[in-house]
Amino acid sequence: MKSRLFGCVAAAAIGTLAPLAEGHAAPCLTVTVTGAQGGPQAYQGLAGPGTLVSYGDDANNCGAVRLQFDAGRGTLLRLSQVNVQSSQVNAVFFTHMHNDHSEGFADLIQRRWMIFPTSPKVDVVCSDDVASPLGHTISCRKFVAHIADAAINSGEVAQRVAEDKRRPEGGPAALANVRTFEARNEPQAVWTSGDVKVSAVRSTHIAGHASYRVDTPAGSVVVGGDAGNDAFAPPRPASTSAQVEILAKDADVIVHSAIHPVMGPDRDSGMPPPIFYRQSSASDLGAMAQRAGAKHLVLTHLIPPPGAPQQGLWKVPGGALTEADYRKAAEDAGFKGQTLVAKDLATLRLPAK
Ligand SMILES: [Zn+2]
Repeated sequence: MKSRLFGCVAAAAIGTLAPLAEGHAAPCLTVTVTGAQGGPQAYQGLAGPGTLVSYGDDANNCGAVRLQFDAGRGTLLRLSQVNVQSSQVNAVFFTHMHNDHSEGFADLIQRRWMIFPTSPKVDVVCSDDVASPLGHTISCRKFVAHIADAAINSGEVAQRVAEDKRRPEGGPAALANVRTFEARNEPQAVWTSGDVKVSAVRSTHIAGHASYRVDTPAGSVVVGGDAGNDAFAPPRPASTSAQVEILAKDADVIVHSAIHPVMGPDRDSGMPPPIFYRQSSASDLGAMAQRAGAKHLVLTHLIPPPGAPQQGLWKVPGGALTEADYRKAAEDAGFKGQTLVAKDLATLRLPAK
């Protein structure tokens, strides 16, 4: 499938094939929310945050290139529900090193190492090590290098290598190819394959946070992660990230973490203001998506999840929210496109069928 796609591209590039010759399958892209939970708490089986972007053509069900953005709790299970094996993911991109976005990676890479030991290394793309002004260093590189230290120290890695010598002795991390970049305010290309290009910008949440954009001939998708505004608290123009807004210019789809305004300090949720302020609100995301000219806004990593009476330790003022409350927040702020309030496995296809 892959060779067919890239074969067409290569042939077109050297001018031996008329563009879109008869019978050439049309390019397509799917965006699948692999987890819609916001934050580290567990609620009603929702998986931790993650988005799968798959690109290909009609002949391979948009499945020639598979990019996983963040890998929260249960990512492997959600991928199994859309028939994607751990070995079929070409690259994993991390927005930041918080466990809700990263803890499913251990599962994903261990599975690849055990069951598909001869599969190619998976690219892991994330920010360079970065020193936080608070005195610590955030290191995606070390996170990946040490992903299976518990299994190495328990003796499991040696035991499994003993029963299948094809498994790399270094353990699951040996199947990861870490590619870090210095996150900057201006979009820069951080990964390409054929006609798929991924760009990144620096965004504010914790040190090293990055947001991504995927461009393909079938359309473009921005994955904002937990980005918020560079100004940590009001007064500020919006809770959204100015860099993400530039990245999202004319994007087809924006997938973004959202917090509902009812959790704000002007109500009595009990959520500490810095935790509220470091997320983008559903209403500000609606306004940003409209300014950027996006067609679809996927609100995910919902704080609080629809139906939940609590967000972790904090109450939801006025009682549990509904999906309609999130959609209304985005639409009332001016978004005229399609707002999708994500559940696990919510999917969008470009072009729509
Ligand atoms: Zn998060």
